Amino acid sequence: MVARSALLYLSRQEGLKDFATRFSLFKKLTTRFVAGETIEEAVEAIRALNAHGATASFDHLNESVASVAETEGEVREYRQVLARIDETGIESNVSIKLTQFGLEIDPQLAYRNARAVVAEAARRGNFVRVDMEQSSVTQVTIDIFKRLRAEFGLDTVGIVLQSYLRRTYADAQDILKIPARVRICKGAYNEPPEVAFPDKQDVDDNYVRVMKLLLSSGVYHGIATHDERMIEATIEHAEREGIGQEAFEFQMLYGVRRDLQVKLAREGYGLRVYVPYGRHWYPYFMRRLAERPANVWFIMKNILKG
Ligand SMILES: Cc1cc2nc3c(=O)[nH]c(=O)nc-3n(C[C@H](O)[C@H](O)[C@H](O)COP(=O)(O)OP(=O)(O)OC[C@H]3O[C@@H](n4cnc5c(N)ncnc54)[C@H](O)[C@@H]3O)c2cc1C
Repeated sequence: MVARSALLYLSRQEGLKDFATRFSLFKKLTTRFVAGETIEEAVEAIRALNAHGATASFDHLNESVASVAETEGEVREYRQVLARIDETGIESNVSIKLTQFGLEIDPQLAYRNARAVVAEAARRGNFVRVDMEQSSVTQVTIDIFKRLRAEFGLDTVGIVLQSYLRRTYADAQDILKIPARVRICKGAYNEPPEVAFPDKQDVDDNYVRVMKLLLSSGVYHGIATHDERMIEATIEHAEREGIGQEAFEFQMLYGVRRDLQVKLAREGYGLRVYVPYGRHWYPYFMRRLAERPANVWFIMKNILKG
């Protein structure tokens, strides 16, 4: 628990971020979780995933962007990603973060930028998933998502909810009324006990409750987890309720539990892999270490091996 908090604290340190971005040895070690720095490297990673029966979601790594010009650069990047998906014929949608589009500068700016990407996806028949970030932006993220969803179709834009938040079951009920496509995950940020369950068992119990609510809604949702108990609970619920394999998909992160990814795809389940790429990999990478502090030793061993 202490290791997790320490790693999440380090994930927010700007100085370390700059240092890590420049330090090439460290860069090499991130390749387990990050597909590369360029769109083309991510395209290659996605081709390999597609060959194993998995679809993907592009994530251009960047968050908490503080300049308007940089947020506009993010929109250009995503337009290019959507074009490359069409040109290459790979099976992928995209995931975006609203702080990447300027949420911390001005929510209206983030809305405009996100809208530009969603409009491009709509034009191309693709789908945009709005990732969920720290709890200080949960409400504004949902508000912006609802504006987007009011304008664009069910199969064009969806959102993420985190089972560690106390509010999430009510949010899921509310969002299903629209209706909308949800990715349920446990949540990856450091949150105070007033807003998030401190006890892992409560997070897991809430995950199962929300998963059941989503699956029984008849809308196509994403069940994002590497936790075999959550996966078993999902499969059991779907079988019990007569919900077919085609009615939902499992989602996992690039480089995490590849064995399980292959197994689920072989069993005929929809499996989407979240594929992050780009230069600003530091906070994402640190959150992956925080999820499993044993990963730190894996990384250290690689450094020592040279
Ligand atoms: C597709 C996808 C999208 C996501 N989007 C968001 C988002 O928008 N917002 C957000 O807050 N979070 C997001 N997450 C992260 C998520 O919230 C969790 O932090 C992460 O998935 C770990 O939770 P878990 O369900 O795998 O369960 P855990 O209980 O954390 O892990 C279960 C098991 O999975 C394996 N595992 C989990 N993480 C790792 C890792 N990093 N390295 C190696 N093994 C690991 C281990 O074997 C572990 O025992 C996303 C996750 C996925 C899969």
